[in-house]
Amino acid sequence: MTPPSTTSAVVIVTGASRGIGLAIVHALLQHNARVIATARTPLSTNSAETSSTTEPSSSPSLAELVKTYPDALRYVAVDVTDERAAGMIVGEAISAFGRLDALVHNAGILDPLARIVDAPITDWVRCFDINLFSCVRLLQEAIPHLRTAASSSSLSGTSSRFILISSGAAVRPTSGWSAYSAAKSASNMLVASVAVEEPLLTSIAIRPGVVDTAMQARIRSEDAKEAMGEEGRQRFVGLFERGELLKPETPGSAVARLALSAPRELNGLFVNWDDERLPK
Ligand code: NAP
Repeated sequence: MTPPSTTSAVVIVTGASRGIGLAIVHALLQHNARVIATARTPLSTNSAETSSTTEPSSSPSLAELVKTYPDALRYVAVDVTDERAAGMIVGEAISAFGRLDALVHNAGILDPLARIVDAPITDWVRCFDINLFSCVRLLQEAIPHLRTAASSSSLSGTSSRFILISSGAAVRPTSGWSAYSAAKSASNMLVASVAVEEPLLTSIAIRPGVVDTAMQARIRSEDAKEAMGEEGRQRFVGLFERGELLKPETPGSAVARLALSAPRELNGLFVNWDDERLPK
């Protein structure tokens, strides 16, 4: 494996242990980027398989990627809600690679999968902490480095990037998903706010589609029946059974291309993974 160039982009990806995040990391490495991947799962127990798929994934696990790309990939195992996490993650980017060009916030949870009347407020707080507040903490650590990279960029003279993996749930309510939808909706506004505050960054929220990951398995589970209603749950069971879920690699490569080169015209926007304005 040829080591990546010391001028190749450095990208942080949260929620990188499986699903869409793992696919983003793999695609970035294939584009010769340098990556700080982070999630809670220790590398020794990491496997590319998700509990959702009927067949084992053919994609490499994060542990395999670390072996294949020793010069380009670092893994930070930490709970993103830990108050030290943002400093550890951004610190690793700077100490390992000396710069930071893009932040991709992908870590997310659906829970509490419960109707408003039934969900303890502590579960709402946890949901917002992982989906939203952890990202604010990361931005606070990352923005100074993203500004520096943009102003001294020898890559292409472009802005640095902040890409947030949002959801259709941000704009469409689903029974039982209120905390998740509210957190994703607020995340879209965080992206729009960065766009007006940080002229050296291009900031985009992306909707990845309905993707075959552990999160979708949770939505199809019997547990979801009470919160979503059987009809609501069956919609997702049907998509899965008809083979209509996207493979994580599909939105994963779209996000990787965006993290490396984000069109300025998308700054502050919420876009679909297959929007024709995304880089090909
Ligand atoms: P997933 O397979 O469940 O992956 C979630 C990732 O987030 C895992 O890597 C997990 O790693 C990490 N994570 C969760 N809690 C964490 C914590 N406290 N600290 C650090 N990392 C944490 O789900 P996915 O479907 O790939 O979801 C990725 C993103 O896409 C999410 O933001 C989700 O909202 C969004 N999305 C997914 C779909 C879909 O259909 N799948 C649709 C719309 C949007 P560890 O467990 O190892 O910590």
